[in-house]
Amino acid sequence: MTPSSPHEELLQNVQQDIRAHLGTGRVADYIPALARVDPHQFGLALHTCAGERASVGDCAQGFSIQSVSKVFTLTLALGRVGDALWHRVGREPSGSPFNSIVQLEREHGIPRNPFINAGALVVTDAILAGRPPQVAVAEILAYLRELADDTDITVDREVAQSEADTGFRNASLANFIRAFGNLKNPVGEVLETYFNQCALRMNCVQLARAGLFLAHGGVDPLTGHRVVDAQATRRINALMMTCGHYDASGDFAFRVGLPGKSGVGGGILAIAPRKASIAVWAPGLNEAGNSLVGALALESLSRRTGWSVF
Ligand code: GLU
Repeated sequence: MTPSSPHEELLQNVQQDIRAHLGTGRVADYIPALARVDPHQFGLALHTCAGERASVGDCAQGFSIQSVSKVFTLTLALGRVGDALWHRVGREPSGSPFNSIVQLEREHGIPRNPFINAGALVVTDAILAGRPPQVAVAEILAYLRELADDTDITVDREVAQSEADTGFRNASLANFIRAFGNLKNPVGEVLETYFNQCALRMNCVQLARAGLFLAHGGVDPLTGHRVVDAQATRRINALMMTCGHYDASGDFAFRVGLPGKSGVGGGILAIAPRKASIAVWAPGLNEAGNSLVGALALESLSRRTGWSVF
């Protein structure tokens, strides 16, 4: 297809670069709804701070954003409780898998960072703040719809239910944190909210649009609306860089050089500060649980644009 803009040409070139790898990696198989996703799909979208958009492949196909949601719940929680959040969750890479429990005991129930599951549960607890889970989930959904400027974003009920049916490890983490007094709401309510946020279904175009404020100092460049303050934006980007890919965060920084957050649904949101927000989706995962082809695509994009922050 003839590209209609330089950015579209860029994305088509990236798509060409990863073509030989399409379908590689293993789709997450801990729940049926993820296990049956065709690993050959690939979507890529970008949204620049100047308002240009481009997308290729399966960019309109919705997928389970899973842990990419942790970026948005962190933003929401920082808006709600501010720096007080940092008394309850750390800012160091964990060097452990996403669902690891081992550090929690030694560190007295203060999770290493907001992007491992333990930390995300604490963040979700801060959002919940005594309200029923349905109210918090509705708030998170409305937030994503507003950021993406698209009402066609949903919570996939089947995924949410399967997460609940199989979420024994998350339940263990939540109970353990609660035992240290670092969850304020009932464990069941925190988990229900968390499982629903993981089950948010979005496509690459929506995800790139929703992340755009992170590329623009916390202000949505298209509406002028301030989502979060500039300092928090820098910090969220720093955490995405250092902790966004679990124990493979160092490798992602090395290869791509952009703040990014992955999810086991195969999505990655990457931020090129002051330039663009990029979302990629390819369901096959590498050993660390990050999209294998998605990371290759971002590596190619970063090389072609020179957008690495380093
Ligand atoms: N729902 C998954 C879990 O909490 C999310 C993991 C991920 O995307 O990294 O186990």
